[in-house]
Amino acid sequence: AISAEDLVLAFGSFVVMEDLTFDVESGEIFAIMGGSGSGKSTLLKHLFGQMHPSAGTIRIGGRDLWAMSADERAAMLREVGILYQADALWSTMTLAENVALPLEEHTALAAPDIDRIVSLKLALVGLRGFEDFRPHEISGGMRKRAALARAVALDPDLLFFDEPTSGLDPISARRLDDLILQLRDSLDTTVVVVSHDLESIFTIADRALYLDIDTKTMTALGPPEDLRSNPPNERVYQFLTRSL
Ligand code: ATP
Ligand code: MG
Repeated sequence: AISAEDLVLAFGSFVVMEDLTFDVESGEIFAIMGGSGSGKSTLLKHLFGQMHPSAGTIRIGGRDLWAMSADERAAMLREVGILYQADALWSTMTLAENVALPLEEHTALAAPDIDRIVSLKLALVGLRGFEDFRPHEISGGMRKRAALARAVALDPDLLFFDEPTSGLDPISARRLDDLILQLRDSLDTTVVVVSHDLESIFTIADRALYLDIDTKTMTALGPPEDLRSNPPNERVYQFLTRSL
């Protein structure tokens, strides 16, 4: 579904990561792991076209994101679902208004149809009855789930999550994992998820990529269990065997 080839992530002359080559398969849950500052969020932003690569190619559905026109790219990325690291709900809007926003912006659906979808998506994340609440009136875990409802409002083929379980208590975190699995299974969504959360990675990820901050490149790619039982290097081993 997505491929990166010889990708370089940099801010000006500061290179964050280089030599990134990998494919994310359709319907796969693909985790991006690595220490703080290794470039996980930056890589994710490249994969959904929010940042232009310093070098290398990103393809979605086989098409080079940066070889097409801006209009084509916008059309291609319009229906991608994104859950940012800091939840980015609009604080002045209710949860229902937040979830309705992408539907109002990107579809020609009539208000009653939008309302129906909004209710459905909020129910999906366990927030039935919270339509009229504002973000500050609910808990952090509920805000994550509301942001997830908004991310899936358009039934995207591609979902990008940046640390979805961070800041959540273990029960809310596992609920979110279940939701992500459920979304993939029901909608056949391809999911790319940045995570530090080992339990989450081992529960949901089909494959995981490790960004090594010291060598500035990826040093592992494969099913998390395989990486743990057969770690390619010491740092990957350390990362995957921290006490759960
Ligand atoms: P964390 O786990 O803490 O979220 P991360 O792996 O997501 O970390 P990034 O946010 O991708 O890390 O940052 C990677 C590197 O790029 C860091 O050294 C950071 O300082 C740098 N960086 C990130 N955003 C910018 C920016 N807008 N301008 C300049 N440098 C940046
Ligand atoms: Mg980050």
